[in-house]
Amino acid sequence: MKFLFNALSTFILLLSVNSLNAAIPVVQDNLISAGQNKIDNYKICFAVCDYSGKNMIIIREFEQSGQACYIGIDPFDLKTLIIPAAKVKARLLSWKQIMDDYSNTPYIRAIRKSSRNSDKLQDAGIVHGFTEENGITLTVDLCPSRKPLDREIFTSLISEFGKTEKPVPLALSVTGKFMLTHPEDMDWIKGLISAGDISVTWINHTYNHRYNPQKPLNENFLLEPGTSMDFEILQTEIALLQRGLLFSVFFRFPGLVSNQQSVDTINDYGLIPIGTDAWLAKGQPAYKGSIVLIHGNGNEPLGIKDFLHLLKTKRSAVMRKSWLLYDLSETIESEFIN
Ligand SMILES: [Zn+2]
Repeated sequence: MKFLFNALSTFILLLSVNSLNAAIPVVQDNLISAGQNKIDNYKICFAVCDYSGKNMIIIREFEQSGQACYIGIDPFDLKTLIIPAAKVKARLLSWKQIMDDYSNTPYIRAIRKSSRNSDKLQDAGIVHGFTEENGITLTVDLCPSRKPLDREIFTSLISEFGKTEKPVPLALSVTGKFMLTHPEDMDWIKGLISAGDISVTWINHTYNHRYNPQKPLNENFLLEPGTSMDFEILQTEIALLQRGLLFSVFFRFPGLVSNQQSVDTINDYGLIPIGTDAWLAKGQPAYKGSIVLIHGNGNEPLGIKDFLHLLKTKRSAVMRKSWLLYDLSETIESEFIN
């Protein structure tokens, strides 16, 4: 196992060494740049700063093509941003201090709410959003898989919503392994973002997403003994940044399996666990504000079938703009604004 881990790290290192250099990115719809980025010295860092007239919470520091950068979060709209370190004066704070100082912001309120049901073995975190109109937030999980991406989800969304909502907002919970083994699918998704057809909220779904069908849930997925949380979380963030993609503040537990301690750990990385109240393949119906879960990794044809059926039944409401797809950050922000 250790050898595998080392081999993987070496491979990732080689990837980043061989990658093309790029200037500090311009972030648009969570797509930083088309090419590969060189990411080094990636670390957790908690601080606050003012940037572009906004008070930002910093959660990571790193170098991109030799230039020092931070990942900042706007605590009011929950959006992440890459901040060039040279442009700001960061004030280091402990995570606990940030939780106290920013306790009235939607971001910290969402963090606190996400830990309230953390004693559950499945589906901890935030499972429902706030919407003004009828509609849902769609989350598509990209767990490790040998099968190709189910592209019909995307093409159907674009054809159904393209006239009323462009880009179509959706959230993709992505694993490092999926990115590593599906480069063409990742490029295809990036193409849809560049074309303005979809906007993606990238949810961290861990790097390895290990699963052992022989083990009970409380020793499975991320609860498997010996799991490195640093690797699972940070390496997934690095893998996104290397591909020119910027992760959000959201996290989804593999198998939706967690315990109190793992939820606390995720919160301590500054991330908000997102569950679901409408896993379509399990027969849970979607209603107003639902965070809908389907799998886009080719392993859940039933969920896709149900989702396409849902789209069809809502077609006239979609055309009237009375049934919408919601951006995950916006629906969570609205939930915690007051
Ligand atoms: Zn998964």
